[in-house]
Amino acid sequence: MCTEQNIYCHASLTDPSVITERNVCCSASQTDPSVITERNVCCSASQTDPSVITERNVCCSASQTDPSQDYCTSSQTSHVTSEYDDVDNMSDSDSDWRHSAEDSCDDDDDDVGHSSVEFEITDCNRNCNSATERKYVVFESCIRQLFLLCFLCLSPCRIFVRRLCGSFVSVEQQCSRGHVYHWDSQPCHGSLPYGNLLLSATIFFSGVSPVRMLNCLRFTNIPMISIRTYNRIQSNYLVMAVKKVWSNEQTKLLQSRSGTFCDVAGDGRCCSPGHTAKFGSYTVMDINDSKILDIKLVQVTEVNNSNAMELEGLRRCLAFLLQFLNISTITTDRHSSVQKYLRETFPHITHYFDVWHIAKNIRKKIEEVSKRRDCTILHDWAQAVSNHMYWCAASSGGDGDLILAKWSSILRHICNIHTGHGPLFDSCAHGLLEPRLWITVGSKPYKELEIIVKNKILCRDIKKLAHNGQTSSLESFHKIVTFFAPKTVHYFYSAMEARILIAVLHFNENSQRPQAVTQNNQLQWSVSFPKARKGQAVVKPVSVPATFHYVDKLINATIELRDAYPTYNMAKTNAEILSASHPPSVASLCNQLDKENAVQLHKMKSRFNKPLDTAPES
Ligand SMILES: [Zn+2]
Ligand SMILES: [Zn+2]
Repeated sequence: MCTEQNIYCHASLTDPSVITERNVCCSASQTDPSVITERNVCCSASQTDPSVITERNVCCSASQTDPSQDYCTSSQTSHVTSEYDDVDNMSDSDSDWRHSAEDSCDDDDDDVGHSSVEFEITDCNRNCNSATERKYVVFESCIRQLFLLCFLCLSPCRIFVRRLCGSFVSVEQQCSRGHVYHWDSQPCHGSLPYGNLLLSATIFFSGVSPVRMLNCLRFTNIPMISIRTYNRIQSNYLVMAVKKVWSNEQTKLLQSRSGTFCDVAGDGRCCSPGHTAKFGSYTVMDINDSKILDIKLVQVTEVNNSNAMELEGLRRCLAFLLQFLNISTITTDRHSSVQKYLRETFPHITHYFDVWHIAKNIRKKIEEVSKRRDCTILHDWAQAVSNHMYWCAASSGGDGDLILAKWSSILRHICNIHTGHGPLFDSCAHGLLEPRLWITVGSKPYKELEIIVKNKILCRDIKKLAHNGQTSSLESFHKIVTFFAPKTVHYFYSAMEARILIAVLHFNENSQRPQAVTQNNQLQWSVSFPKARKGQAVVKPVSVPATFHYVDKLINATIELRDAYPTYNMAKTNAEILSASHPPSVASLCNQLDKENAVQLHKMKSRFNKPLDTAPES
């Protein structure tokens, strides 16, 4: 009793800051010395003090000690939609925000207001959903204010951190009369705090880099899980959750097409530029509604070389899809092994070539030639010739000879001759034209363009141009894959596969968004002036904001998996069973040297470690 009196001798109920400082100093001296430093920092911190940035901030879920309290009023998706403005524009970019006179107070955009959201902390009748309830970032000094006085006798209290586990903190309050109270910042599932599970999940499902995200939190002095813990949660739960959700979504997609004939487009993508890719993915999409029906990941070790990954991916996609649906046409690029495979294995499926790939190629070739002397006039024609190819394909209903006749007419059109092209396509379909720089028959630029237009292989393949849809949507999809799995980052097979599947879930949910309208019901457009177009304006419709309902599904699947496999070990066993068919990692196939020997060998080879008398030749 005497000691207690001493401890609290300067404390008075009217000045809580004194109580806290005293308490903290006392408790710090009695326990672990490392606690002293933390505590001291916290003592000096207050909400008005600039040193506030150094105090620890704890991620705190709002349910406190009673997880049954549910006061969540809004779904997660409603908060994040503005982050992703366009499916085609998923990469990071600076916003064009500028200060204006209306920006009166700091962050007023983020101010939700006081009356709009009810803090239903007293309503504990409903079951709380840890995933959807609101969470706050709370400063340590603010947590301490809650525990200054004993809840039972109002005596001043000493406050300890009982446990700090990633984003989770457990606080112990001891009053001078011996009452002890424990408070946890988050509900837990067994020994795993929900905050740690959910933060890992949202890092993965949002496509941000875990290393950068965890660093960001560390710099803010928010205690956080280590990258090791993140990786453990990712491989044991998150990857499985993605597969589960995609499997359900894919089943629905295929069931809705059962018994019908589909027109599909397929395209491959490499995980890194050049010819040294470790992974190739192949995507098959329904042309009519731009939904991705299947995607398969191929590791280079499964085939002879990285060029063979595209065909292997297509083969796997078709083997899977044809169990559930009929395919009448398939549109791909002109990959020769793909042509041969489709011709020989699936003669009943009509194979078309994608205009986008060929037209892009033609435009590049013409632009290349236009750099030569006397050929600069071709620069102005490159885009027009490329557009003409799209028109030929789209207006001919799949009639190969008609496509070729229309295509050949471009060589007369550029010379200002618009009639008498031939029996299949006699005269141009356009109306009156504005004046332009026509090309003279037989001139150097004419001959150069003739070589490109009359190319033998092109004239053979152009007859098979797709008229019923293009794979440009697949190109948009590949941009989204790059967002979720950047080409500069290395991934193992399971993680890579899960990342491309998240990209599919995002794409399928958002690929057919309607054009946004203003408050006055006017369609919204964006105008940009890209460098490649050299001053020409590019006008695009602005889509309504993307939605993220798939993230809700992924988070629910994560929690279901934790319920089904409540320890890391159980989850790991399940993950290993489900990934048994994955190819072994590339490194495991190498002749592996143990680390010590590898380091020794490296030192021997390094020129900086050579003895001085064997200095490198200059
Ligand atoms: Zn008490
Ligand atoms: Zn014409």
